[in-house]
Amino acid sequence: MAAVTKHFIAGEWREGAGGAMQNVNPSTGKLITEFPIGTAEEVDAAVRAARDAFDGGWRDATPSVRRKLLFKFAELLQANAADVGRIATEDMGMPWAFTTGETLYCAEFVEYFAGWADKINGETIPLSAANTLDYTLREPVGVVAAIVPWNSAVSLAVWKLAPALACGNTVVIKPSELAPLVALKLMDLLAEAGFPPGVVNCVLGDGPQTGAALIEHPGIDAIAFTGGTATGRRVAETVGRNLKRVSLELGGKSANVIFADADIDAAAVQAGVGCFINTGQQCIAGSRVLVEESVQDAFLEKLSAFATSWAVGDPMQPTTQMGPLINEGALDRVLRFVDEARDTAQVTMGGERLGGDLADGYFVAPTIVAGVRNDMRIAREEIFGPVLSVIPFRDEDEAVRIANDTPYGLAGGVWTNDLSRAHRVARRIEAGTVWVNSWLTLNPQAPFGGYKASGIGREGSREGLDVYLQTKNIYVQFH
Ligand code: NDP
Repeated sequence: MAAVTKHFIAGEWREGAGGAMQNVNPSTGKLITEFPIGTAEEVDAAVRAARDAFDGGWRDATPSVRRKLLFKFAELLQANAADVGRIATEDMGMPWAFTTGETLYCAEFVEYFAGWADKINGETIPLSAANTLDYTLREPVGVVAAIVPWNSAVSLAVWKLAPALACGNTVVIKPSELAPLVALKLMDLLAEAGFPPGVVNCVLGDGPQTGAALIEHPGIDAIAFTGGTATGRRVAETVGRNLKRVSLELGGKSANVIFADADIDAAAVQAGVGCFINTGQQCIAGSRVLVEESVQDAFLEKLSAFATSWAVGDPMQPTTQMGPLINEGALDRVLRFVDEARDTAQVTMGGERLGGDLADGYFVAPTIVAGVRNDMRIAREEIFGPVLSVIPFRDEDEAVRIANDTPYGLAGGVWTNDLSRAHRVARRIEAGTVWVNSWLTLNPQAPFGGYKASGIGREGSREGLDVYLQTKNIYVQFH
């Protein structure tokens, strides 16, 4: 039996007093470790530790102290990228080469927010009244609860930790029960960087018990949540009752629109990568690919060639481009979507569990479903697997109508060589991010978040600070 993993509270590793859960390597189906299900008392201890750290000095730490600690954390992420990547790969199955790259990208993300730590300023406000001074301060909110899923375990945690800490908050993070180990490694690195005890805490456990206890805790001042839209709605209900600040980064069903005048070779490759990367387990997966009818056959041929070349296998091998799905339940769900689509559309490749050397893991081949209509279930629901639906369209208006005919609004794409059309369609797509002749790039300097049911708030950029700050107005009367 593997070692029992512990909570990280007030700078110490603590055994859990409640039940335990197991996490499994999705490539092999083998047990990695056991970890505790955080109880309400353990959540309370973590929140108290965060509060004590906030009140006991962290709220007064100078911006340059926060900046230097974050730069040190970024340095440690860089130095440990391969190790952090390996932990993530074993935990959730994304290829090691990609999780290592993701960690290096996270180091840049931390550097970006380290840079903000000493540039968070208020304003002086000219009033009509004589002999007055009015100014604002941008202050940390206090204790932040960060709840993150498993699918990009490194970035999703770092996207919350870095801005929350840059603004001067303390944090209690609860990673997903499906991939809890990366967050523990991050705690290690944050402690090594010099963050004082209690500034960052990690409680392990599941959503319904530990996660729910955390977001209900009265000592929390803000909730930064990433996850599915259904869970996001539950978090929002709690937030409504308790009146907390919140950011919600939720699901997507993004449309990638390919016009006949586009570079079809590049579009086919990027559409494939945009959907199959991380085995389609990406909120920003381009799972609906809208293709102008006149180029549909040529596009499908190139897309199929790309998908055939996309290397599925052991995610620890450096050449592997796609690993397994997270667990058996996810595999069954993905295959059910594809089977249902067989009656009404054409599954042109994939749609099956992979056997042979991969039989013990939850592997499925890249899957392409052609002739999809936007009212089919496969086009409406987030599948969270490597299933790409190709939906034909006749003209620009129809493309925009189909792209926007979804409850989600996380991302979108436009492929065209017509400059005016590129900007026109980008503006008409109802989504927080639109890529033109590209897909997938997310930069720390640019805001990321959802329209419609894909969320509230932004991560990255100056806007990514907002949920972690509150504005105080100070009015001074001269006598
Ligand atoms: P879930 O919504 O199931 O879980 C997300 C997190 O919430 C997990 O830590 C989970 O814990 C926790 N949780 C679950 N129930 C509760 C609860 N009642 N109270 C508090 N916390 C709870 O999402 P998935 O794990 O399925 O992740 C995939 C989803 O995340 C997809 O919809 C994807 O699109 C979305 N996502 C959005 C991103 C964005 O930036 N917009 C980025 C990445 C993913 P546990 O897992 O332990 O149960």
